[in-house]
Amino acid sequence: MQNTLLTLSDSLPLTCSRSGTCCHGNLVRLNPWELMRLARAKGMSPEAFRDQYTLNAGAVLHFNGSPNHTGKSSCGLYEPGKGCSVHPTRPLACRLFPLGRQIQNGLAQYMHEGPSFPCLKECPEVLQLPELTVQEYLVGQETALFEQAQDIYLEMMQNLADISFELLLDTGLAESGDTQVLASWRKSGTLDSTALVKKLPAEWLDVLMVPSSVEQSGELIRFAEAHQELLNRKITELSDSLTTFGSIREAAQWMMSLALFLAHAIGADARGLSEHWIEIAKSHGAKE
Ligand code: SF4
Repeated sequence: MQNTLLTLSDSLPLTCSRSGTCCHGNLVRLNPWELMRLARAKGMSPEAFRDQYTLNAGAVLHFNGSPNHTGKSSCGLYEPGKGCSVHPTRPLACRLFPLGRQIQNGLAQYMHEGPSFPCLKECPEVLQLPELTVQEYLVGQETALFEQAQDIYLEMMQNLADISFELLLDTGLAESGDTQVLASWRKSGTLDSTALVKKLPAEWLDVLMVPSSVEQSGELIRFAEAHQELLNRKITELSDSLTTFGSIREAAQWMMSLALFLAHAIGADARGLSEHWIEIAKSHGAKE
C-alpha cells in the first residue's frame, strides 16, 4: 500500500481518543534499548521479558492478550479497562502510531499508510477532537529520545554489515571466487525476522537483543556505547577463530543475517538494503 508522506506542519486528527484500538492486532517492533527499558518497567530481566512478551528473539511485541470487539488480540502489555501497563516507557512505534518514520538521505520523514488517515476507520471519534500538527504530535509523544535510539541502532546495523563486507572482501574470500556469500546475502534479504531467527546462532541473537552483561541503565548513550563494545568484543573473538575460507564464509553470512535481523527490528527495508549491499560488494570484485 502506498504511504502518504507528511510535513511537520501538516495538521491532522492526531489527538488520541484513548480507545486502545492501536494496542490490538498491531505490529510493534523493538530495538534492544527499548526492550531493556520495557523489561526494567516490568521489573524483569531482559531475557525473561523477551520470553514472556515478545516474538522473534525480541524483535516484536507479542499480541496475545484478550481480543477486543473486532476480535483482534491485544498487546501482552495491554491491561483491559486500564490501558498500556508501560505507558511512560512505551516504544517508538507506539508513540508514533498511526505515523511511520523512515530515514531518507539522512533526514527523518513521517508518513501514514494509505491515502486516508488510518485512525478514521476504527476511531472516527477523533474527528471531534482538536487537530495537531505532526510536529506538535511528536513533541507531545516525547519521541525525540526514541528516534535517537532508532538512529543509533541503524548505525549499529551498518556496522554489522561492514563486518560482513570485511570478511568477504579483505580476507581473500571474494578473490578465491566465492559466490556463496552474496547468494546468502540475497536470500537473507528476502527473509522476515521469524525466518532469520532460525538461521542465526542463539548466542548472537542474545548478544544483539538482550545484552545482559551491559549495564542495564536506562540512559541511551551509555547503554548503546557499551552494547557496541560488547558486540565488538564478540566479533574480535570470532575473527580470531577463523582459519579457513569455510569458517570465514559462515561468519560473513552470520554477520549479514544479524544486520538484516536488526534492520527488521528497527523497521528498515531489509530487502532493499541487502540488494544495495550486494551491488556495492560486486563493484568491489565480489561475485554472485
Ligand atoms: S506497548 Fe503499550 S502502547 Fe504499545 S501496543 Fe503495547 S499496550 Fe499498546
